[in-house]
Parts: sequence; structure tokens; C-alpha cells
Amino acid sequence: MTRLLEIPAARTLRTADDLVKAGLAAEARELDAVMAAYATAITPGLAGLIDRGDAADPIALQFVPSLAELEVRLEEMPDPIGDKAHEPVEGIVHRYPDRVLLKAVSVCPVYCRFCFRREMVGPDKDSNLTPAELDAALAYIRAHPEIWEVILTGGDPFMLSARRAAALTRALEAIPHVKVIRWHTRMPVADPRKVSGEFVEAIRSRTKAVYVAVHCNHARELTADAKAALGRMADAGIVLLSQSVLLKGVNDSVAALADLMRGLVEARVRPYYLHQLDFAPGTSHFRVAVEDGQRLVRELRDAISGIAQPQYVIDIPGGVSKAVAALSDVDTGADGSRLRGRDGVWREYPTQV
Ligand SMILES: *Cc1c(COP(=O)(O)O)cnc(C)c1O
Ligand code: SF4
Repeated sequence: MTRLLEIPAARTLRTADDLVKAGLAAEARELDAVMAAYATAITPGLAGLIDRGDAADPIALQFVPSLAELEVRLEEMPDPIGDKAHEPVEGIVHRYPDRVLLKAVSVCPVYCRFCFRREMVGPDKDSNLTPAELDAALAYIRAHPEIWEVILTGGDPFMLSARRAAALTRALEAIPHVKVIRWHTRMPVADPRKVSGEFVEAIRSRTKAVYVAVHCNHARELTADAKAALGRMADAGIVLLSQSVLLKGVNDSVAALADLMRGLVEARVRPYYLHQLDFAPGTSHFRVAVEDGQRLVRELRDAISGIAQPQYVIDIPGGVSKAVAALSDVDTGADGSRLRGRDGVWREYPTQV
């Protein structure tokens, strides 16, 4: 197979013409309808990882627009996890008492074709918080002493400049009841150089615990640059977690999941969540059946280290909560309990009183 593009593109690919020039689409007009509906961006680093000779390249599948996105199924929804149902002020989602989401920006360095917030993110959505809205969101957090953790999400909050990220961190540090600041980002994978020493300095804290959850779906996303970015955060005392989405053709095999989770652990990232794909519009070509996900996760459990295990979760449509999707190793029936071992064998367990 030949690679059409040996030298990484110099800038982020955003238009159909960009994709054609980069050898990632055959004909520009064909994608017009998809690209009008959903934002597109592929950073030079990720574009450079794509094997042009492989029609099913797992990096291309995640970022290159596809006509399959025009097929919207009945069960798919513009706001699949019900953010809007729990939004007391603009930019805050308060679903669980002790933690809130704070969505400061609605832009991302790349746009994932399966994004659960695809109707809300993009450069033309114009829903970045204004300074006044951000002040109101911070005032809400200040006024609610039960908020123990603030989860910065979006869009991608690492799109903030180092100066604005520092200002946000300082504002949260000044709220005594907030103990944990958690960032959710794809930046270490999408544009690792943006996670500069200056940016890391901006988000680290001496008074609060800082966690960064990195969105990563395939081992190949963990390039040397990505690992260096993760290393800069780990060295600064930031605790690293991961979030992955179970995606057909990208990571729906035990081997792909094992490579991904091991790669994360090697980069000092503790796997956190493996998400069942939400019902966002035009994403059915990525969907893996829950029963298949359960089988994969069980086989993964049997195959690799405990510290490399993500929790398989499903967001209940409409915004109730997450549900734990993994099968249990405990089977309790009328005649007592059985436990399943890593060898796959079920063994009787003494009945307790
Ligand atoms: C997933 C989610 C959280 C965070 O949940 P954790 O289980 O603590 O990671 C918080 N708020 C909302 C609305 C969520 O969807
Ligand atoms: S980085 Fe996250 S918010 Fe942005 S497009 Fe991807 S899944 Fe959506």
C-alpha cells in the first residue's frame, strides 16, 4: 500500500477541498451535505497517522466525514444524554448533587464523527460562554456548597488559552467547597503541542486535586508526541484518566482494546470509562451491540492487568445517570451463589447469612 502523503499536512483540515488535497476524500461535492450538518477538523498530527491505502483505517473512521452520517435512525436524538434537562444556568449541567459539568467552550481541536454532542459543538455553533456567562456559572458553583467536583468539558476546554485556563483554575481554587478540578479533553491526542509546559502550569494546582481525563480510542493515537504531552501533565502531579468510546471498526476487538488500555497505562493514564456509543444522529455505523460490548469487556478482564481495566458504562438516554454495563462475576440464585474466575469457570460460593 502506498501512502499518498508522506509529509504531515501543515494545518488542520476543515473543508472538503482540504480533505481531497490530503488524499482523504475522492470528490469534494459528495461530502457537502455531511459537512454542512456537522463540523469537521482533522489536525495535522492525526491526518498524518491515517493510512490512505486502508479504507477501514481506524483513525480515518473517527475523523473523516462519511455519507453514512446522513442516515439518522428513529432512536437517535440531538441531545442523547439529556444535558439540557439539567442546565440551571448556561454552561452548567448539574445532574448529580456533588459534581457539575462546566462547558466553557463549544469548539474542539478535532471533530469526532460519533460525537455525543455533535449538534452542540463546532466553530459555527457560537456557544462558547461569554465572560458574563462564565461569571454566572462560577457564581452558581460558589452558591452551591454541595458541589465537591467541577468537571470542565465542552467542546474541549483545552482550547482555552493558557491565560484563560489559569484564570479558570484560580477562580475554582478560590471556592473552598470545590476540592477536585477535572478536565475532559482530546487535546493530548489531537494536538499534543498545545499541552505545553505553560499550559500545564496554568491548570496545575497546589490546593486542589487536578484530574485530566483523556479521550482516546485507538492505540495508534498514542504517538510519541501524545505520550510526551501526557508525561508533562503526570510530572506536574496531575492525575491522568482515560475515556474511550466503543466503536465498530475502530476498537471493537479484544486485541484493539488490550493494545489501547495497555498503551494508556504505559503512558501513566489509568483507564476510567469505556462508553457505549450514545444515540447521537447519524452514528449507527459505529454502534456495537451491548451484548458484544459485554463479551469484549469480559474477555479483556480475563486477558490484561487489573490496572488497565476501564469501566464499561452506558449513559441512560434522556439524562438519568450512567449505568454499569459489565457482566457480573457473581451469580446469585435461589440455591446460592457462584463466582466466575479469570479461567472462565463458575464455582460455588458458600451461602452467607
Ligand atoms: C458522566 C457525567 C458526569 C460525571 O460522572 P462520573 O461518573 O463522576 O465520571 C457528571 N455529570 C454528567 C451530566 C455526566 O453525564
Ligand atoms: S473531542 Fe469530544 S466534544 Fe469534541 S467532537 Fe470529539 S467527542 Fe465531541
